[in-house]
Amino acid sequence: MRDSTPRVVIVGGGFGGLAAAKALRMADVRVVLVDRQNHHLFQPLLYQVATAVLSPGQIASPIRSILRRQRNTTVILGEVVGVDIDRRCVFVDSADREGVALEYDYLVLATGASHSYFGHDEFARFAPGLKSLADAVSIRNHVLRAFEQAEAEEDPKRHRDLLTFVLVGAGPTGVEMAGALAILVRATLRSEFRRVDPTSARIVLVDMAPRVLGPFAESLSAAAQARLEQLGVEVRLGHVVDLIDADGVVVAGERIASKTVVWTAGVAPSPAGKWLKAPTDRAGRVRVQPDLSVPGHSEIFVVGDTASLDQDGRPLPGVAQVAMQQGRYAGKVIHRRIGAKSAPPPFRYFDKGTMAVVGKGFAVLQTGRLRLSGFLAWLAWAAVHLEFLGQSSLRVSVFVQWVWLYVTGQRGSRLIVNHQGPSRHDSPSIVFHEPS
Ligand SMILES: Cc1cc2nc3c(=O)[nH]c(=O)nc-3n(C[C@H](O)[C@H](O)[C@H](O)COP(=O)(O)OP(=O)(O)OC[C@H]3O[C@@H](n4cnc5c(N)ncnc54)[C@H](O)[C@@H]3O)c2cc1C
Repeated sequence: MRDSTPRVVIVGGGFGGLAAAKALRMADVRVVLVDRQNHHLFQPLLYQVATAVLSPGQIASPIRSILRRQRNTTVILGEVVGVDIDRRCVFVDSADREGVALEYDYLVLATGASHSYFGHDEFARFAPGLKSLADAVSIRNHVLRAFEQAEAEEDPKRHRDLLTFVLVGAGPTGVEMAGALAILVRATLRSEFRRVDPTSARIVLVDMAPRVLGPFAESLSAAAQARLEQLGVEVRLGHVVDLIDADGVVVAGERIASKTVVWTAGVAPSPAGKWLKAPTDRAGRVRVQPDLSVPGHSEIFVVGDTASLDQDGRPLPGVAQVAMQQGRYAGKVIHRRIGAKSAPPPFRYFDKGTMAVVGKGFAVLQTGRLRLSGFLAWLAWAAVHLEFLGQSSLRVSVFVQWVWLYVTGQRGSRLIVNHQGPSRHDSPSIVFHEPS
């Protein structure tokens, strides 16, 4: 390939970045995709790793392997720490080098989001969020270990806080996780313990909003809440969490004693806006033009969770479909520009619908005017998630696992794995408060 071939640097191999790279597969460009992880992660199924349904390898694939047939693309494992828009380069830290400059002709930033504790960063120590595979494995270890500790504990008074699980945030992640935990304790674990009764475990879902699944129609929120309550989940709405500490949470002045609190509430965008010194919305997402470029820099595109764009007067949601469609669009704009072709019409998001699963064989689905809850919606949810998993090998393995779980109630991945040997802690990236 000629050296004068334009170089497109894509930062992030999540939904947006991967879609941008794939859209450039036929373009006469050199694509360099940089990600701080070596894998593309299917975040919508993270809660299934955290609740021992699936193993990490079933929801993630090496980015290098996904793009192996794309000859114009190089994948680099490294963390981008800044952008120099005048020199047109990004700075990359890797295992043994820091601040290596990587020049670009076009830049696509698709760096996603992380947790937001709404100004209460002190909660992070006691209530980790669910964003990465490491988070999910750590939560799984912790949940499974809580049952083991309760079984080993002679004093039944100590079982209560060990077996109380609090989820803060009743959006799709909190609802799906609460439903999956309920099935774990009431079906999978119910006959395996002798001193404790797993079905007595308390699962509490807390949110300041007046209903669960805020982005869904009210009728679907009500259906999801009813289903959760049927599964034994306590749903506490309309109250802010005042405090989270080593002994649990305080909600509306009441302490809920718990050794496992998981944060499934807010998200904060990556620092892309700071790197670019570009205008951002209140949350810190980069305000992009209708062609997804940054104002004043037609060679820089920002897509996915870290971009902010209004459509029909409302901001686009931080969901995988938006990121994929935006990534694809940014790739197309670059491809056409390089080929001296006219620009495509402004980006427009096509909403294919939203879904959330609540326990076994039940989901809510809304698309256009259609509102559906129950088994049919769950089948649609399963089909769509299988379709969007990165590779066919994952589709087969997840499908088999789901059928097995459905028929037998047995989960695929219930090992407690101490990555640092027989220490009491799971991973330095997440500090759960250990039951004392
Ligand atoms: C638990 C959970 C459940 C979800 N469920 C759903 C769902 O059911 N349906 C749905 O539509 N959406 C869901 N979402 C949201 C969806 O996953 C996101 O909207 C989507 O991933 C956004 O895509 P993205 O490309 O912007 O970011 P991501 O997919 O998060 O990708 C960002 C990538 O950038 C990399 N990166 C970040 N910073 C750097 C850096 N400095 N240097 C190098 N690489 C970097 C990351 O490693 C990552 O690979 C869920 C999210 C979570 C966390």
